[in-house]
Amino acid sequence: MLHLLMLCFLGDSSANPLLPNRHLNQAVHIAPIAVQRIGDRIAVRVSKEALGKPMLWFIQLDGPETSNGYTVRSCNSIQVRWELRKDNLELISTNPKRSNPLETEDHVVKAFAIASRTDSDSISADVTDILYGKVPAFSPAWTLQSTGFDLDRTRVLQLINDRDGFHTAIHTVFQRSDGPGIAGDVLTSLVLLPEKPLSRIGPDPRIGYITSKCPSGECIRRFRLLKQHPEQPISRPVKPIVFEISQEIPNRWRPYIRRAVENWNAAFQQSGFVGAVECRVAPTLTSDPTWNPADLHRNVIRWSKGTGENATGYSIPDPRSGESICAKVVIGEKVIDLFSRQYFVQVSGAGKPPNVWPLPEAIQGRILQYVVEHELGHVFGLDHNSLASSVFSVANLRDQGFTDRYGDVASVMSYGRFNYVAQPSDGCPSIPILGAYDRFALRYAYEPGAANQPDRFFAPLKARPDLRYGESGPSNQPSDDPDTQWDKVGRETLLATELGVRNLRRVSENLNALPTSARNLLGDAVCTQWETELGHVVGLIGGIRGAQAVSGPPGPVSRSEQLGAIGFVGDHIVNDIACLEGMSPTGCNRAVENVLTNLFDSRRVKRMANAQTISFAELFKKIGDAITSQGPSSKADFLSNAYEKTLTRVILNRDLPSECRNEAKQAIARLDRELLGRAGNDRSKVPSRA
Ligand SMILES: [Zn+2]
Repeated sequence: MLHLLMLCFLGDSSANPLLPNRHLNQAVHIAPIAVQRIGDRIAVRVSKEALGKPMLWFIQLDGPETSNGYTVRSCNSIQVRWELRKDNLELISTNPKRSNPLETEDHVVKAFAIASRTDSDSISADVTDILYGKVPAFSPAWTLQSTGFDLDRTRVLQLINDRDGFHTAIHTVFQRSDGPGIAGDVLTSLVLLPEKPLSRIGPDPRIGYITSKCPSGECIRRFRLLKQHPEQPISRPVKPIVFEISQEIPNRWRPYIRRAVENWNAAFQQSGFVGAVECRVAPTLTSDPTWNPADLHRNVIRWSKGTGENATGYSIPDPRSGESICAKVVIGEKVIDLFSRQYFVQVSGAGKPPNVWPLPEAIQGRILQYVVEHELGHVFGLDHNSLASSVFSVANLRDQGFTDRYGDVASVMSYGRFNYVAQPSDGCPSIPILGAYDRFALRYAYEPGAANQPDRFFAPLKARPDLRYGESGPSNQPSDDPDTQWDKVGRETLLATELGVRNLRRVSENLNALPTSARNLLGDAVCTQWETELGHVVGLIGGIRGAQAVSGPPGPVSRSEQLGAIGFVGDHIVNDIACLEGMSPTGCNRAVENVLTNLFDSRRVKRMANAQTISFAELFKKIGDAITSQGPSSKADFLSNAYEKTLTRVILNRDLPSECRNEAKQAIARLDRELLGRAGNDRSKVPSRA
C-alpha cells in the first residue's frame, strides 16, 4: 500500500472553494482537467477545450489479496469523455457493443451538478461519489465481493494533477456483508488520449500478438515507438519505453529485473531501434510524493505479496487503436517458488543446480529474470507461442554450442521452461533466453513498414521453423496439436520425454540427500513433472497438427506415431510407478490418474473418432495389456482400479461416440478376466474396487 503521509493539492481549500479561484485558474491553463480537495469533498475542473475529448480512466487496487492471488490488481480501464449538458457535467463512457465489439456505444456514467463556471471557461463539479466507489464500474469493490467503501474510514492520500490528467490514491475499508472490512488503496489515473490515434496494424495468423477490438478493426497492441532519425536503419527512439522498478521490490531482485528489461533492447535493435527501453528505480514517496504506480504515464513493475505463484504483464490500450498507453507488470513473490521447483525437477537430474534447497539466490534471480522477460513480451504486445518450444531437435538441445547461442526454446513467449532434455554429460544451459522468434515477432509491430508487406515479411518462415508461431485451444484444456503444448521442450516428443524421465529418476535419487520437508515438496513436484511430460506424449494420440507444424505435416498425427505414443504411455505408467510412489504416494496416484483421464479426454476421443487413424480397440487393448502386465502388488491393484474408474467414466459419458463407449465396456470385461486369472479364478482374491 502507499501509506502516503503527504497530500498533494492543486489550489487552495476554502470555505466555498468551488467558486472561481484565481490560483486554481492559473493551473487550469496548464492542465485541461484537474482535481482538487475541498474540505471532505473532491472536485474536478474541466476546461472547455477538454470537453468532449477522449480520455482513459484506469483503476488499480493496492493492498488486499483478491481472487487472482495478487495484492496489486488492475480493475478496469475505460474510455471516457466529459460533456456539458444543461446544468450538468456528464461523464460519458465509450464501450464496445456486446453485439459487435468492433462498434462502440456511449453510456452516461453519472451526471454531476455544476458547481461553478469560472471566468476562464472551465467547469467544476463535485466528483467525490465516483472516486469513493459509488459507481460500480469505476470501483474495485467487485474484486473483494464488497458492498462499497466504509466512508467513515475513507481518506484521501494523494491528488496529483499533471499536464494532461490527474492521479489519485484513496485509502478505504471495503465493507462486506459476510465478514470484516478489508483495507486497501484505490488508485485512479485519468489522462487525455493521444490527439491522433496510432495507425492500425491488424493481426496475422502467422504471428502471435495480443489484440484489441477497435472501431477501425482488430488491432495489435504496440507502443508508439518512433525513430528520432527515420532515415537511418538504426536510430534512438523519440521517446524510449521507460520502466520503473517500484520501491517495494526487494533490493536483491532489482538487478535481475533491470537485466530483463534491458535485454529487450537487443531484440528492438532488429526493429531498427537502439535504446528502445530503459529501466530505472522509481522514486521513494518522500523524494517524489507525486509518484503514483497507477499513473497512466508510467510503466511500472510492482511486487505482489499474495499467495498466487504467478506474474503478469499487460499494457493498457487506447481503445481506439490498440496503442499501449502504458504497461503494468505485477510479480507475485511466490512465482520464484514455483519456478524454482520446476527448475529443480527439470534440470537437477542433469547435474544443473547444486543439490540444495532452496536454490542459491543467483539461480533464483536468473529464474526471476526469465519470468520478467516473458511478462515484458506481453507488455510489448506478444502473445504466447507454444510452437516455439517444439522447434529445437533433441540433438540441438543436447549440444552446448547450440544452446549457448539459441537457448532451449525459440521464444521466451513459449511455455517451454527449462532444458529437461539435456543429460548430465551435455553441460547445456537450462534457462530460456530471448529467442529468434521474439526478435522476429517484434519487427512486425515496431519495424517501420514491416507489416505493410506481410508476404515479404513472412517469407523466411518457409525455411525457419524457429520463426513460426502456433498456439491452439484454451489453456485449461489439452492442446489438439502435439506441437503446441505448454511446458514442453524438444521436437521429437517421445525421445525428449524419455530423456526427461531419465532425469526425473536421477532427481529422485538426489532428493534422498535433502531434508524431509524439501524431499516431500520436490517429490510431489517430480510427480507433477512426470504427468506433464507424459501428457506431451498423450498429445500425439488423436493429435492434429496445425498449418505451422514443426514435427510433421499438417493433419492427423500418423498412425505409427500414435501407436508408438500409446505404447510409450502404457510402458511408462507401469515402469515409473514405483519410482513415483517413492517420491510421493499421493503425488504418484494423482499423476497416474490424471494421465489416464487425459488419455480419454472427450475432445481427444472425438478427434480420434473423426480421423479414424487408429481404432479405440487398439487404444484400449494396448493400455489394458500394459496395466495388467505386472505381477500382483499394491501398485498393480491401484493401477487396475484407476484404469477401471477411467473406463467407467468413459462408459457413462453420453457425450462420447458410442464406438468408444462400447470398446470401454469390453475393456472392463477383459480387465476383469485378467484379474480373475491372476487371482487363480478365486474372486475373493480380486482386488476390491473403489
Ligand atoms: Zn504469459
